[in-house]
Amino acid sequence: MTQSICILGGGISGLTAGAFLAQHGCRVTVLEKAVTVGGSAGSYARRDRRFPAGATIAFGLEEDGLLTGLFGRLGNKVPAELLEHPMDIVLPDRTVSICRDRLRWQAELARAFPERGAEVLAFWKELSRIGETVFSVTSTGVSLPVRRLYDLGYLPAYGVKHPLRLLPLARRALWTVGDLLKAHGLETYQPFRRFLDAQLMDAAQTDCRHAALLPSSLALDIYRRGSYFVHGGIGQLSELLAARIRELGGEVLTATPVTSLNRENSSWRVVTRKRSDLYDAVVNSTGVSFGIGTSHAEDGEFSWGAFRIDAVLDEAFRHDHLDSRPLPFALQIMPEAGHPVYEAGGHGPVYVTFLPSVDADNEPVAGEVMMTCSIHTETDGWERRPKEAYQAKKQALTDAMLDAIEDVLPIRRYVQRTDAGTPATYERYIGKTAVGGFPLTVRNAILRPKSVSSSLPDFYLAGEQSFPGPGTLSSALSGYHTARAILGGRIGPSFSGYR
Ligand SMILES: Cc1cc2nc3c(=O)[nH]c(=O)nc-3n(C[C@H](O)[C@H](O)[C@H](O)COP(=O)(O)OP(=O)(O)OC[C@H]3O[C@@H](n4cnc5c(N)ncnc54)[C@H](O)[C@@H]3O)c2cc1C
Repeated sequence: MTQSICILGGGISGLTAGAFLAQHGCRVTVLEKAVTVGGSAGSYARRDRRFPAGATIAFGLEEDGLLTGLFGRLGNKVPAELLEHPMDIVLPDRTVSICRDRLRWQAELARAFPERGAEVLAFWKELSRIGETVFSVTSTGVSLPVRRLYDLGYLPAYGVKHPLRLLPLARRALWTVGDLLKAHGLETYQPFRRFLDAQLMDAAQTDCRHAALLPSSLALDIYRRGSYFVHGGIGQLSELLAARIRELGGEVLTATPVTSLNRENSSWRVVTRKRSDLYDAVVNSTGVSFGIGTSHAEDGEFSWGAFRIDAVLDEAFRHDHLDSRPLPFALQIMPEAGHPVYEAGGHGPVYVTFLPSVDADNEPVAGEVMMTCSIHTETDGWERRPKEAYQAKKQALTDAMLDAIEDVLPIRRYVQRTDAGTPATYERYIGKTAVGGFPLTVRNAILRPKSVSSSLPDFYLAGEQSFPGPGTLSSALSGYHTARAILGGRIGPSFSGYR
């Protein structure tokens, strides 16, 4: 009999799970709260402009990339542009240009960190060697924690083929990035530490002291594998998956928040304002709890919130700044200690992108440039009441972030409008104040990774809170792992072939 599966949440993880399940004959229904799919890797319309909801850069889209492999198996090809110069990390005393080409990157490290150039290069070489092995291991389809044989994917075969490659991973399994710095005598070299901290806040939701070395090595060096701008915005990834589910006979319903769940005999009743239906199994990819055991959010683990500014700049900004010296795709600006940005509730770097302006229907708008900015913030203290205090806090962080950007690049005189979004805005839009999953500490990533299986019968999880963790690529991988757990391993584990 055909298995009916209800996926709660139409972010990239839920849609990936749904597409694999539909491809393997399940009757799939995706219920999404927002009016568009994609969640944090989607978009929303604000005053007739469409802004990214969170993610802007995609990873894993190279020829042998993990996302290419996943999408390829679903019959989709992603229209994306490779970024040769994805980002500049602007530190108080220096700027580091992230580039894809490995030799140019080594030269950049030597230029940016001249005081300790040789050690920094040696550190990076070891980091990228570890990252390569982590990539190969991930390509085997292994899913942690291992509960069933199929969770191992092709790892046993990989271990037999390359026994020596796994040894360095095993030796460093409990290391943090800080431990590798120490091994290279770099633990007190602040400029390099600050640079790594800035990168890790986005990639691992924590800093050198706590970020687990194995996943962080892949995340820090992933720009050499390739980072991508998806044409039409990163939300296109979710749109493609939703279209695939519909093509395969499934349903994807937007503007349909799930309000409750109940176990009835051996089925799950899923209730929304408009429907109440029974399903054989449920996948919760929302990151929100619907009762005991239904979400990793119940574990009491810390998660960051995000604060963002969506701005429209006058076209003159392009003429004056972008045409003469093209900027990288993104700027990650780390204000110095004591900057008002921290007092106003920001944490870590201000992340800025300049994008072509598009209207609510994703059609180009001439005569302006879109600027999106985001920063980590704690979720507490952003409740909407009292209204005046909320507005004042929002304005203070907006002003401090714009000042931090202005110190690097004059933008203020081009600004036509700004709209800010707080954790309370995220809650209204995607149902939660905490975004970006849990920090990739050794505990979360290695010792107690969070499973896609749950203790409830026929109930599964997917998304940035589950293994392998935060980011669009990892969330999509978790969705694939969820589909495999439901299908009892009936889908092969290889994405693009492990090496
Ligand atoms: C500001 C910011 C910038 C980022 N930048 C990047 C980047 O550049 N590159 C990158 O790779 N990653 C980035 N990320 C991380 C990445 O976007 C996320 O890790 C990933 O998109 C999470 O996907 P998900 O499916 O797990 O969860 P989500 O995207 O959160 O999806 C969950 C879905 O569930 C829905 N939902 C919630 N409650 C209900 C309900 N009751 N009923 C039905 N549906 C519900 C939500 O509306 C949402 O669509 C960024 C994140 C943020 C916040």
